[in-house]
Amino acid sequence: MTESSPPGDGVTIEVRGLRKQYRSVTAVDDLSFTVEPGMVTGFVGPNGAGKSTTMRIILGLDAADGGTALIGGRPYRTLPRPLRTVGALLDAAAVHPGRSARNHLLWLARSNAIPRRRVEEVLDLAGLASVAKRTVGGFSLGMRQRLGIAAALLGDPAVVIFDEPINGLDLEGIQWIRGLLRSLAADGRAVLISSHLMSELQDTADHLLVIGRGRLLADTSVRALVATASGDRVTVRTTMRAEAMTVLSDVGATVAVTDGETVTVTGLPAERVIELLTRNGVTFTGVAAHRASLEEAYMELTRDAVEFGAATTREGRDAR
Ligand code: ADP
Repeated sequence: MTESSPPGDGVTIEVRGLRKQYRSVTAVDDLSFTVEPGMVTGFVGPNGAGKSTTMRIILGLDAADGGTALIGGRPYRTLPRPLRTVGALLDAAAVHPGRSARNHLLWLARSNAIPRRRVEEVLDLAGLASVAKRTVGGFSLGMRQRLGIAAALLGDPAVVIFDEPINGLDLEGIQWIRGLLRSLAADGRAVLISSHLMSELQDTADHLLVIGRGRLLADTSVRALVATASGDRVTVRTTMRAEAMTVLSDVGATVAVTDGETVTVTGLPAERVIELLTRNGVTFTGVAAHRASLEEAYMELTRDAVEFGAATTREGRDAR
């Protein structure tokens, strides 16, 4: 590409005090964050949290009620050649079903002054070269996702915004997109991808924006979020539960009965639990340490938002 902003030139997405209201639903509530170039930023939150709304506002498809969303310092609508700055995948189903994959991309390229040869490049990149002549109407959801991603990359953009790109992909597709996202970031692009599932992002994202009820719950590296998880747990299998609870709570640990023969301890490392039980003559048949997972940290952060989200999503849908 000759005229596009070269990847790696440090284009960011900056969202400041963003707000959006749909009747009684506050979809986006004073949201501020920056998406940095050179890394994959995961935008994660339960269904109805406000991810798509935020992305639509960044892309100029919806108007905010307050705040700003800038790409490289400008609102999307004022970008001179938007497709060459930002590549977006929002709704993979939104393609004319009677067109072939190649013709769809050729049409997009022509209307954005992008050279024809770039179409062949993105068809290759998306693994669609062998089905380029087939009409899109017969494409599976996974193939549509690939076509949507090919279209997003046509302009070799410095910023990439994909809404739930992993949704609907088979295992091979998931591996492919993970590799693609990592390489887009390695080129120096700013990559923002959303998901309602932490498991989809944990091996792909470097940074996480966790959102619930339209509000930012965490703006953190993946590593830091794991570290802030509620703490490591140790489970102890013993027939002397009452004695174990006394010994462990005496030193300040939180101890809960899990089932008939197990107690769960938080606040003490496993070695210390073993030492205390042994010293106090409490016999046990097993001690297991559990590291708090990213999934648990995410569940904890979004617990309130999930309950809220489920209710308002239903309301929101009924209202449409
Ligand atoms: P997410 O992408 O995180 O699932 P959305 O941004 O789609 O969340 O939705 C956030 C909230 O805004 C939800 O409660 C949803 O029902 C509501 N909402 C989104 N778009 C509209 C709309 N066009 N009209 C009314 N309510 C909407």
